[in-house]
Amino acid sequence: MQGSGGALKPAAGMVAHGVPDRRPRKTHLGSGIRFAMKLIRFGDPGAERPGLLLMDGVRVAAPDFCADYDEQFFASGGVDRLAAWAAGDLSEAEKVPVGVRWGAPVARPSKIVCVGLNYRAHALETGAAIPGEPVLFMKASSAWSGPYDEVWMPPGSCKLDWEVELAVVIGTAMRRVPEAEALHYVAGYGVMNDYSERSWQKERGGQWSKGKSGDTFAPFGPWLATPDEIGGPGNLALGLKLNGEVKQDSNTSDLIFAVPHVLSYISHFMTLLPGDVVSTGTPSGVGAGHRPELYLKVGDVVEATVAGLGTQRQQVVPTPGT
Ligand code: ZN
Repeated sequence: MQGSGGALKPAAGMVAHGVPDRRPRKTHLGSGIRFAMKLIRFGDPGAERPGLLLMDGVRVAAPDFCADYDEQFFASGGVDRLAAWAAGDLSEAEKVPVGVRWGAPVARPSKIVCVGLNYRAHALETGAAIPGEPVLFMKASSAWSGPYDEVWMPPGSCKLDWEVELAVVIGTAMRRVPEAEALHYVAGYGVMNDYSERSWQKERGGQWSKGKSGDTFAPFGPWLATPDEIGGPGNLALGLKLNGEVKQDSNTSDLIFAVPHVLSYISHFMTLLPGDVVSTGTPSGVGAGHRPELYLKVGDVVEATVAGLGTQRQQVVPTPGT
């Protein structure tokens, strides 16, 4: 999906004289001129480097002033510095070889705040009441994972489930922010699969966090799209396939509590720091909603997509060393 059109914007991928334009698109949304960018990270787990995904699908390394896409980067205006760099000639930028692993496009956040039961049909399929206020829970940030990494079935797991979600990365610290201003605090958007071990989530007592926090349970990416890339979070198709079969198929316009409301709401209970992640909830079609219930097994392949934000893909494997 492309951002909103406009005469001032060059046609996607081309400049006036017909030479492919490899730079991010210049857009005129909001108050100023900004560059729509797709931020990526690449390299081995724990040693990722920041980069950009260009319009021709080539990945390039970010310049040296970008140490990583983390709290410090977002808090210090790193996105604007990166955009200024990306507006220039990138022909000399370091290209990332095709085979190099895609990391999550932002560094492991200080926290992952999730919204539960935020699509009506999903709330109903789980047997829950439609919530009167956003249902919040925390997912351990140690679950953070790359978009194509394997997902680890924990020892003893019997109800591993999937949840495609639109996730928001915070750009500016949010404390008690009004709903009307909430989107100004967003750095960008990406795809997340909120993997969930249902028996640990619901049958072991206490809060949901037990079933939400296993290693690899929060794959994010493949890229972080700046807001100009998608033209707003309120009308994005999202879906999920299991072994090629469609299991979830919805749109963020069906959210009970829309993104601005959710961000504002959370910011009244805790400070959302730059680089933090808010995952906005999953639509119907999870395994727990199937009759009979359907859960993941080793070898299954899960693909999660949000329009404009790409498709991530994981294969289920036993947790290494167990
Ligand atoms: Zn979820």
